[in-house]
Amino acid sequence: MTLRFRNLGSGSSGNATVIQAREGTQVTHLLVDCGLGIREMHKRLGRAGMLAEQVDAVFITHEHADHIGCVRALAVRERIPVYMSHGTYVAMGEPDFDGLLRVARDGVAIEIGAMQVRPFTVPHDAREPLQLTCTDGAVRMGVLTDLGRSSDHVMQELSGCATLLLECNHDPHMLETGSYPWPLKRRISGGWGHLANEAAAAIALALRDAGLKRVVAAHLSEQNNRPDLARAALAPVMGCDAQDIVCADGANGCEWFDA
Ligand SMILES: [Zn+2]
Ligand SMILES: [Zn+2]
Repeated sequence: MTLRFRNLGSGSSGNATVIQAREGTQVTHLLVDCGLGIREMHKRLGRAGMLAEQVDAVFITHEHADHIGCVRALAVRERIPVYMSHGTYVAMGEPDFDGLLRVARDGVAIEIGAMQVRPFTVPHDAREPLQLTCTDGAVRMGVLTDLGRSSDHVMQELSGCATLLLECNHDPHMLETGSYPWPLKRRISGGWGHLANEAAAAIALALRDAGLKRVVAAHLSEQNNRPDLARAALAPVMGCDAQDIVCADGANGCEWFDA
């Protein structure tokens, strides 16, 4: 059994991550978020060595534009089931998924081929946002982007994850002194916005005793963060050199990683 993942793009320009579980000859691919145009999505799946028809299911974390992108077109064209919360579906305007919509709920596990997915709620300014953990039965990984702060619930759900794709959205000083209008600054730094590097590091630190071995930094703001700042925040916590912390970027995401 193996569990691997590859981010295809991360940040406000569009988010998408492929998680692959392999058990014997059975290979399962879950696409987490679909925040790119359809052509770009095909291109980036291709770069990951995949075709869209190999995607077994899509999971949409929430309705913000950088996460939904081409989901309807991709799902309907390729006949891929799409999981999202009822709140996300309502906030998207209840689009017609042609029978492919599946409702995801906090704490209710979903079996998709060789993997089991467990969604959980997070504090973020969307209608009913869900992030997730995923396991092949042997190892567990987590996806945690788009949240303003941690919670007991979030930490409980992530306990036991070996690998985490973790939002490092901004450096508080860069955000404060940057060019964003004040209400947007307040939204991003607030408890329903996005995680600062230090907040991400605190989450990683708390999860280390619960088995966390690797983090990949994600959803970095191009305006309010730099990869070296995210690496500097995470490296001491993970006990590694700064250059060993990978940051998924907007244009290329990251390479494949074993979870
Ligand atoms: Zn986002
Ligand atoms: Zn969001």
